[in-house]
Amino acid sequence: MFKKILIANRGEIACRVMETARKLGIKTVAVYSDADASAKHVAMADEAYRIGPAPVAESYLKIDEIIKVCQQSGAQAVHPGYGFLSENPDFVDALDAAGITFIGPSADAIRAMGLKDAAKALMEKAGVPIVPGYHRETQDPGFLKIQAGKIGYPVLIKARAGGGGKGMRRVDTADEFITALQAAEREGLTSFGDGRVLIEKYLTKPRHIEVQVFGDNHGNAVHLFERDCSLQRRHQKVIEEAPAPDMPEEMRAAMGEAAVKAAKAIGYSGAGTIEFIADVSEGLRSDRFYFMEMNTRLQVEHPVTEMITGEDLVEWQLRVASGEPLPKTQDDITFSGWAFEARLYAEDAAKGFLPAIGTLDHLKLPEDTARVDSGVRSGDEISPFYDPMIAKVVTFGGTRDVALGKLLAALEATEVAGCVTNAGFLAALCRHEGFAKGDVDTGLIGRDLDTLIEEPALPDDAIALAALTALGLTKPAGSNDPFDTLAGWRIWSASRQFALLDIRGDRMDVEVQALGNRRFSVHLENGIKNYTLLEAAQGRYIYESDGHRASAVVIEGKSNLTVFLNGNAYVIGLPDMLSADDETAGAGDQLIAPMPGLVKVLSAQAGDKVSKDQPLVILEAMKMEHTLKAPRDGVLGEVLVREGDQVTDGTILLALAAEDSDAAA
Ligand code: ADP
Ligand code: ADP
Ligand code: MG
Repeated sequence: MFKKILIANRGEIACRVMETARKLGIKTVAVYSDADASAKHVAMADEAYRIGPAPVAESYLKIDEIIKVCQQSGAQAVHPGYGFLSENPDFVDALDAAGITFIGPSADAIRAMGLKDAAKALMEKAGVPIVPGYHRETQDPGFLKIQAGKIGYPVLIKARAGGGGKGMRRVDTADEFITALQAAEREGLTSFGDGRVLIEKYLTKPRHIEVQVFGDNHGNAVHLFERDCSLQRRHQKVIEEAPAPDMPEEMRAAMGEAAVKAAKAIGYSGAGTIEFIADVSEGLRSDRFYFMEMNTRLQVEHPVTEMITGEDLVEWQLRVASGEPLPKTQDDITFSGWAFEARLYAEDAAKGFLPAIGTLDHLKLPEDTARVDSGVRSGDEISPFYDPMIAKVVTFGGTRDVALGKLLAALEATEVAGCVTNAGFLAALCRHEGFAKGDVDTGLIGRDLDTLIEEPALPDDAIALAALTALGLTKPAGSNDPFDTLAGWRIWSASRQFALLDIRGDRMDVEVQALGNRRFSVHLENGIKNYTLLEAAQGRYIYESDGHRASAVVIEGKSNLTVFLNGNAYVIGLPDMLSADDETAGAGDQLIAPMPGLVKVLSAQAGDKVSKDQPLVILEAMKMEHTLKAPRDGVLGEVLVREGDQVTDGTILLALAAEDSDAAA
């Protein structure tokens, strides 16, 4: 076994790998960019080395720097995590040349599976069922269109080098084909440096079911059953589970067998995932699942497999890479119970899932009821440079119902202030009737998106607690106060006070009267309500109102309060009383970067006539592309950025000419 390994990654996965290394008595070496100098993965490691500035191309993707750190620190092997260099065969070659072990498959195996078209051709030859479609060399648009017609619409065009849900276009009719092809080619070229595509039959009611496989350097390969990752938004996984709901035993066996066959076909060593798509238009059937792609690395959602099998997959990776045979044979691997994983992200579901950046002023993860894999701590930044993941929340139960109930409870107990998160959206998914029944397919989220992202009404209690906090009425008075009372509880301050709050864009003056004995009356829209604070320490309140007792948490931020109540988080603004409304004059005439990012595509120039909602800029941030559209019809007055520019949030990108000058243009 290795004595010391380097983890060429950051965030939760770097921390996750270190936990197992520590368990096995292996020393760990972290690498970090300037943005991560005080990150959790750096603090956890036995040693840590700076490898460059924040952008990934200058740090976490620097093969030479990482090899240099291996040599300096004496690390014998490198764990790549997922993302970054994990599926880069050149990295593996460079490590091999330097005599350092890559904890993962061979460069050849990665190359064989790196391109979706070649991987499909290989699997077809190995007798693994593949999605019907075209995946050969010829890329002439007219020829591709004929192929699409033969496959039969709808079809899905995929960039062959694509990943992370990028470079895909669904096409429903022949006359949309060429435009969609161009878009997929462009995305493939700009994101992956490869504009070539493959075409697949688009399945209209599919489930994403993948099989965890493992191989060793002695010719053995096994599978560790399946995961269902059908809950997706824009082809990206949101909640995953294992096993797959309603999976017939015969189909499970067939999928496991096909996955092992795939791994053996390329002499695979280490952890890998064979992704299949199942056509469930007539339910799950053993003859309706098809190979989609192989991910030659540890997958984000590997914990659900660990929960149902009781195996530590990172331990398996380390053992296999150090030359040991697989810890178990196929017959010894069993599973029981059910597990879910939800990906908690700093993103704003209501604003089109825009990544949110900021400081995690307050972070309480449900560690007592769930397995929480996280790479951040309270006070850490969610920076614009990396994936905005806060944590993976993983639960286990004897049955699917129990595990899902625990996931909902864990999400409701999650408290994050300082960054908007998708916790409410994830909780809404847990409450979704179809999902609860196991009736999942990749279109579920899209169909019910509006209700899933609906913000819950703001309860009176949240407003009242925010008003009391804003007025400082919940804080203990000076420490020398003999009665240890709270400010405002004194008779002489029982006068009327007003708290100015920003409630979802509306300013409200909330009147509060202190009645003494920790009692207050608060004037709310539906009348006056009385509140008695029973306990108030560090923002955690137990209160009584209308004869019912409840608890809540209020966290004070720089310009807002976050109230956690009944499993929801409500952000209430504290407007600056002196400032006028925030609306910048003429803001509707400008296109402003909603977050820091890279201007990837600029599709208009000064003087162009544009129409409302016409896409003008594609901004890339946090591994996602965001399309910014024209705010109204008009003529572009100014273009203030160029393709390739890195912009900060709030940067004005384009400005429309004033309305009256449009007429003249
Ligand atoms: P898939 O959806 O194919 O299973 P994952 O969900 O594991 O892939 O991750 C989505 C994509 O984003 C993958 O290509 C993965 O490598 C990449 N990725 C995920 N998290 C990170 C991260 N923290 N840093 C860099 N890349 C990441
Ligand atoms: P990536 O490399 O981006 O993960 P995949 O080929 O794994 O790309 O596809 C990602 C997702 O897109 C799948 O999980 C599935 O939801 C959807 N998808 C892929 N192929 C098809 C298809 N032929 N029909 C319908 N949906 C598909
Ligand atoms: Mg995939």
